[in-house]
Amino acid sequence: MPTQRVMVVTAHPDDSEFGAAGTVAKLVRDGCEVTYVIVTNGSKGSSDRAMTSERLIRIREEEQRNAARTLGVERVQFLGYEDGEVEDTRDLRRDVSREIRRWRPDLVICQSPSRTYHLGASHRDHRTVGGVVLDCVYPLARDHLAFPELLPDYAPHKVREIYVMQWENPQLVVDIADVMDIKIKALACHASQFGDFAGLRRPEVASATQAGRRGAVGVLSTGSSQSAIFLFMSKSNPTNRPVVFDRLPISRRTGRGNSLTSVGVARIWPSRARMGC
Ligand SMILES: [Zn+2]
Repeated sequence: MPTQRVMVVTAHPDDSEFGAAGTVAKLVRDGCEVTYVIVTNGSKGSSDRAMTSERLIRIREEEQRNAARTLGVERVQFLGYEDGEVEDTRDLRRDVSREIRRWRPDLVICQSPSRTYHLGASHRDHRTVGGVVLDCVYPLARDHLAFPELLPDYAPHKVREIYVMQWENPQLVVDIADVMDIKIKALACHASQFGDFAGLRRPEVASATQAGRRGAVGVLSTGSSQSAIFLFMSKSNPTNRPVVFDRLPISRRTGRGNSLTSVGVARIWPSRARMGC
């Protein structure tokens, strides 16, 4: 089977590691070529009053490149939009469509466009970028009359599959227990986003923080429940009940067809019981 191409599009440096690093590690291990597209420059993500946006942008770009290297991601594209101020503009839709057309992924992994009670996951930039990515997959990257200025360099491209990171009502599960260590290593690359990464991994912190980025890291470290999971919806799962996969469906595809056949949701919580599946 030819190499499958995967593109992960997120709002900020570190989003891919929190939301999809285990799955990315498995995809890389299965021979997929993974591209990251990071929409913003991460210039707001610090509680250090001595930090400047200029310094932070450089730090976070390096952290993101290190995390990507840790996971075996082939390349990282930064679009450079202002952190915290992402809008659904023609410029952003064109830029994301251009990256989809440039790298021509079979699978796109993106954030959820929905507001939920999980405040960290449904950050304004995440919602905006998630919605833009879905709009670009269908129809903007596909249609040659959309963004005519991208032609002839960036020919239309049809993405076949999407995983949407989401914490509610998951529909497909990918067990990432066997790559949990590498996910944690990748997360640790984002040192500017943690006051004390090792401290966050203590079980008491894990149990105290069930939501947000600290929760994600904490839960990842709770020993026996290290089996983070991905969830997904497809026509092959008509019961709409979660299905646990050890290997990703993308690695089993036959390459038939050229249309968008499924939309998925993904989550990183490790405990199946906690997820109710
Ligand atoms: Zn984020």
